Amino acid sequence: MNLQHNAGKGFLFIVSGPSGVGKTVLCNAIVEKFAPTVVYSISTTSRAPRGGETDGQEYNFCSPDQFEAAIKRDEFAEWAFVHGNYYGTPRRFLTDNLDAGRHVILNIDVQGAMKIRDSYPEAVMIFILPPTFEELESRIRKRNMDSEHSLQHRLENARQELSYRDQYKHAIVNDNLEVARRELIRIFADYIGAGTEVSQV
Ligand code: 5GP
Repeated sequence: MNLQHNAGKGFLFIVSGPSGVGKTVLCNAIVEKFAPTVVYSISTTSRAPRGGETDGQEYNFCSPDQFEAAIKRDEFAEWAFVHGNYYGTPRRFLTDNLDAGRHVILNIDVQGAMKIRDSYPEAVMIFILPPTFEELESRIRKRNMDSEHSLQHRLENARQELSYRDQYKHAIVNDNLEVARRELIRIFADYIGAGTEVSQV
């Protein structure tokens, strides 16, 4: 499969999956591999930065009031309330890059993905799965930097997210990170036509 660009526009890739499944590491690997052809959409969120996170890098951080004002100005292609915080995809970044022929990767939750699919039915939907729910729970517990309440919320949310798997065209099980990385690179290469260049992923 080597799909052509639609009228010079870039492909829109949506990567979803439960919290703790390794989406961010995998998305970073894609950008590392395909930049500047593939660009990562930095979301806006009202959640507080975690240790090591920098404004404008992992997210654009803002207050809930600022987020709500941006919703009113229609600045998001989609937004959702996840784990008690707002998250949204800036519309301008998305349209500017797709129009310029660059491929955009969105690392967003299932609610946001369903909304984007309504506006971009041709979006390439990729779901990242854990090997088992028990394994996912242990990963979420290990990396939990939030309260116990928030942890419970994330586990419940993970169950919900997993029920959307069938809505996605592609699914990758992240059991071994290197294997999952290669699979994801293959999927991207099939769409963007990077062909031979990625034969040694
Ligand atoms: P975290 O707080 O762990 O960084 O992200 C929590 C969840 O929010 C993840 O599932 C992530 O994919 C999702 N998320 C991040 N940015 C966006 C966004 O712009 N829109 C939506 N709908 N979800 C997002």
